[in-house]
Amino acid sequence: MKPDDICPRPQAQSVGSTEPLAEPIYLSSVYRCHDPAEADAILSGQQAGYLYQRDGHPNARALAEKCRLLHAAQEAAICASGMSALAAIVLSQLRTGDHIIVAEQLYGRSQRLLTEEVSRLGISVTRVDTCQAHAVAAAVTAPTRLIIAETIANPTLRVIDIAALADVAHRAGALLAIDNTFASPVVCRPLAWGADLVFESLTKIMNGHSDVLLGLVCGNSHCWGRVGEVLASWGLVGAAFDCWLASRGIGTLALRVGRANDNALAVAARLVDAPQVEQVFYPGLKSHPDHELARRQFEGRFGAMVTFNLRGGRDAATRFIRAARQIPFSPSLGELCTTLSHPQSTSHRGLSEAERQALGISGGTIRLSVGIESPQFILAGLDEGLAAV
Ligand SMILES: *Cc1c(COP(=O)(O)O)cnc(C)c1O
Repeated sequence: MKPDDICPRPQAQSVGSTEPLAEPIYLSSVYRCHDPAEADAILSGQQAGYLYQRDGHPNARALAEKCRLLHAAQEAAICASGMSALAAIVLSQLRTGDHIIVAEQLYGRSQRLLTEEVSRLGISVTRVDTCQAHAVAAAVTAPTRLIIAETIANPTLRVIDIAALADVAHRAGALLAIDNTFASPVVCRPLAWGADLVFESLTKIMNGHSDVLLGLVCGNSHCWGRVGEVLASWGLVGAAFDCWLASRGIGTLALRVGRANDNALAVAARLVDAPQVEQVFYPGLKSHPDHELARRQFEGRFGAMVTFNLRGGRDAATRFIRAARQIPFSPSLGELCTTLSHPQSTSHRGLSEAERQALGISGGTIRLSVGIESPQFILAGLDEGLAAV
């Protein structure tokens, strides 16, 4: 199914002789059973139905189904946040004694979860540059069970070769889990390239309106056995109203992503020409080290994130941010409007200066999440900032 075909249509539910066209919200935390036999049948999974919201509810189901179709996955589940989706993967796939390989360039919280938190569970971790499949292969040891990387990494927007990593993982008898938050299924569908599990922060592009916190985990049946049990037992399920909002957001996903991607290309081109800018990182530019890979692996688009380094370091960034008043400094992404982030003071503040330098981040680095305004409006906002640098 194409992303355009995921309409916000509810599963039919009669109200009198007609049914609502828009999806209803089911806030009820508990359901009423007719008799013990029915409760038994639902709890044992023999009969479809709901009993208690922590075990599942119609709005999570409806949202999961849309995401499952978008990723052409066999299974999908909704979690309370992107972090709980990652937690669901760790808790359902790993046990004490296992070894995991994680990308060096990971979202900060994911890094913390996959180092400090999992090491408390007796799981060992090796961090490698996952842009180098041979480095990943070299890090494999007997108990390696899971490899985790991001489709497009923050903030230099490096792209990983999913098929190559899947090959390394499968030769080792391990699984490949991909964080697809920066791409969304409109730009990339990692399962089609051999990943076993995909997770996303639905908080970002998928919901698209900066008003919910939710996560997605999806994948194929061979590694799904424990996921439902883990979600219910660790209490990781997303709330009904949030699911309803995200489900509504996904109705415009293809339109939003298409428009934002077109705008991102225009923004990248403008930045390349700006004398105040030292370097531009965008996979859609021929100068990007992963441009060819992105052309091959993505669905004809390169995402809506554009990063650039200003000449003049942090002072230049401060002048840009203060002057570009149409572009809010909001360290997240995937909002309707264009926003910006300053990695040195936000997402990457926990790293040492040397670590940041190795990733290509300086005080002058700004990461844009390009929105769906008119290109003229966005470029005018950029120009305002650049004029002040
Ligand atoms: C935001 C984000 C997460 C975490 O998602 P939350 O919904 O904030 O918990 C994970 N990975 C990436 C790449 C993100 O941008």
